Amino acid sequence: MPIVVQKYGGTSIGSIDRIKKVAARITATKAAGNDVVVIVSAMGETTDELIDLLKQVTDNPDPREYDMLLSTGEQVSAALVTMAIHSLGLKAVSLTGWQAGVHTEDIQSKARITHIHLDRINRELKEGKIVVVTGFQGIDSRGDITTIGRGGSDTSAVVIAAALEADVCEIYTDVDGVYTADPRIIKDAKKLKYVSYDEMLELASLGAQVLHPRSVECAKNYGLVIHLRSSMSDVEGTYIKEVSEMEKKDVVSGVAIDTNIAKVGILKVPDKPGIAAKLFRALGDEKINVDMIIQSIHSAGAMADMAFTVNKTDTKKAVDVTRKVARELGAEGVASDDNVAKVSIVGVGMISKPGVAGTMFDVLGRNGINIEMISTSEIRISCVIKADQAKKAMELLHKEFISGK
Ligand code: ADP
Ligand code: ASP
Ligand code: MG
Repeated sequence: MPIVVQKYGGTSIGSIDRIKKVAARITATKAAGNDVVVIVSAMGETTDELIDLLKQVTDNPDPREYDMLLSTGEQVSAALVTMAIHSLGLKAVSLTGWQAGVHTEDIQSKARITHIHLDRINRELKEGKIVVVTGFQGIDSRGDITTIGRGGSDTSAVVIAAALEADVCEIYTDVDGVYTADPRIIKDAKKLKYVSYDEMLELASLGAQVLHPRSVECAKNYGLVIHLRSSMSDVEGTYIKEVSEMEKKDVVSGVAIDTNIAKVGILKVPDKPGIAAKLFRALGDEKINVDMIIQSIHSAGAMADMAFTVNKTDTKKAVDVTRKVARELGAEGVASDDNVAKVSIVGVGMISKPGVAGTMFDVLGRNGINIEMISTSEIRISCVIKADQAKKAMELLHKEFISGK
């Protein structure tokens, strides 16, 4: 029997009414002659509400207990979706991450999935059941529950679909596809029929939260097609897949903003070999992901300033580590700013089109938006700007490169 893997996000199962609608779609898929494996997120804003709860208990949660708490949201929705399927007269079973054989690294709150033991899922499928698995979680080598990063249910779904050798992983969400920009912000954003893995990986990593970046990475590694579509209609969504040259038309495929970043700077460090290594090794040792980095030399020549960006949630930790290194290196000081955002344009067409960066900087400059940092890859240009100008920057760039064309 063909296997269909479907993932439903928070809004799609945000109420009992929605859960019943989702159950109807799942049973119809089964009735059409497929084996069905479903991956669910927590209902609505449940995960945020769980974080609010723990904040009332502590500012510094124990990482193991944090994952223990956050993983419960998905368990609620898996059981409710399964019972809604039962009410429609079909056989179904819910499984937690560990029951489904999802194994992860021994790291709390951002573990990577390492492997899947499919025995249990296969056994349940053989018994004719629809299998409903909790997304966002797994189990580590010590037998503890881990979570895999906010928005991670997409990755759970893709990894399970790849392990089951499904042809497609259907991701059901509250928009009907991937757009050229977040359709909630840019009203004339266009829906894309296809997006290449590389472009989607850039867009997702640069703030388009519609897919978890690691889900795209994994789909690419296994050549698995993702069909991102709406849980509220039957319209065809967007296919994330290897896109042939013929299908590539536009220079810029999408614009994204990420407001979840902060900038940290170390000021007036003696400019000697090894200073960058010392700082970034110390940050790496603390598992802090650093994104953009710039270094500038003071005119006198003997001193350098360095600035880098991190996830907003890592700001305090990054500042502490940087302060420590600054003292050891004899730097003048450390500064941080979390009132910044990153605006990016992405498109494989940029490789063969000179002048795109110039146009982007010109659009921002003419409109009084100061660029604090720049980084580029072959298919992306990102600028750090002030957070309160992010929406305007996105609108201007979308108009320049996409809707105004
Ligand atoms: P789910 O709970 O289903 O995982 P998410 O909230 O994580 O849903 O992701 C869907 C949201 O992603 C949409 O509501 C939309 O606002 C946002 N989004 C950001 N960028 C894009 C984009 N380029 N295309 C479509 N949606 C986007
Ligand atoms: N419920 C988790 C979150 O809110 C995982 C997910 O939605 O994918 O981050
Ligand atoms: Mg999501």
